[in-house]
Amino acid sequence: MRYPYRIWAEIDLEAWASNLARIRAELSARQSILLVVKADAYGHGAQILAPRAEREGVAMFGVGNCREALELIDAGVEAPILILGTIIDEEIETVARMGIHLGVHSSSRLDRFSQVALRARRSLQVHLNIDTGMGRLGVSPGEAPRLAREIQERPGLKMAGIYTHFAHASFPPGEEMRKVEETFSQAVAGLRRRGLLPRDALVHCANSCALFSGLGLGFDAVRPGIAAYGILPPEFPASRELKPVLSLRSQVIFYKDVPAGAPVGYEGAWRAPKATRIATVPVGYNDGIPWRLGLEKGACALIRGKRVPFAGRVSMDYLCLDIGDLPGVRVGDPVTLIGKEGDQEISAVEMARLAGTTPYEILCGIGKRVRRVALQKRMEPLHP
Ligand SMILES: *Cc1c(COP(=O)(O)O)cnc(C)c1O
Repeated sequence: MRYPYRIWAEIDLEAWASNLARIRAELSARQSILLVVKADAYGHGAQILAPRAEREGVAMFGVGNCREALELIDAGVEAPILILGTIIDEEIETVARMGIHLGVHSSSRLDRFSQVALRARRSLQVHLNIDTGMGRLGVSPGEAPRLAREIQERPGLKMAGIYTHFAHASFPPGEEMRKVEETFSQAVAGLRRRGLLPRDALVHCANSCALFSGLGLGFDAVRPGIAAYGILPPEFPASRELKPVLSLRSQVIFYKDVPAGAPVGYEGAWRAPKATRIATVPVGYNDGIPWRLGLEKGACALIRGKRVPFAGRVSMDYLCLDIGDLPGVRVGDPVTLIGKEGDQEISAVEMARLAGTTPYEILCGIGKRVRRVALQKRMEPLHP
């Protein structure tokens, strides 16, 4: 079989649906999912994944900026979309015109938001962001009533929700995480008591780790990202029930035999420990494979269902693998950088650990020339 791409990411829609069902299993019937698809759905391709998520019953989407919201609308998404953080002034008009929901963390631009909303003849749906320890955006719990009142007083602004974001993630949940839930809960109750929280405002706080450690489940919606893509830290029992959605693959384009001591890659930082065979693969750090992985012990790819080690530093467009111990490799053989082949798997978690980063950064770092290919239901798995 010939593969038509130098490098591609297979996006498994059935795994995606299965993860969403697993998340839903943590919720009661009246709770909904506000699914986070920022950063092009964590590098997977939001236009591929969001429409399917909507069909699976996701009630709302969270994105990082105005352009990401427009991409969802272009893909036919009809569910409401929330910009999780904030916008720059240039985005205000579009947000108002398109009915995109917006996080609000201070009163500084409320007048402006109100004017633009009135001009667009649509109310601007805002979600009050409470800072419970991220120290980033968000208003302190003590200032929330004042900000809520200011929103209430502005014509054209509608308080559509209230939320916070957990700064910590662990299983079992630590003291800081419990504190976030409690602080947020009190802030919400305080606004309710004062009549500052409309009945239909959506209350949400739990990201993936919070919800799978049983926190933030007492509110209207949860706001998972990474778990829907099939990933949780390994100490979470639920991590074993989730299915990674993305596999990153390429193919061997060349190989050659080299003598013991031969340098491979920039600076000759890697040298063949014995006479061996080196395969060249057309994927590099521009595609999201970390530069430093090339010299990390244990960094591998899969060929023919077997692990083969990296040889030398990853360059922009290419990397090399030591295939000396794997006979029979041919030009055109598929290479798996992230994903499964037979009983072997290289996960984004493993790659991240070796590269000293997080699976989030690995996934978001998958470059734009990597073709995202939606896997249909009955597509043959590689090396069954
Ligand atoms: C990214 C993000 C999430 C999702 O977090 P995960 O750890 O991927 O589940 C939730 N809420 C906000 C505000 C975010 O920025």
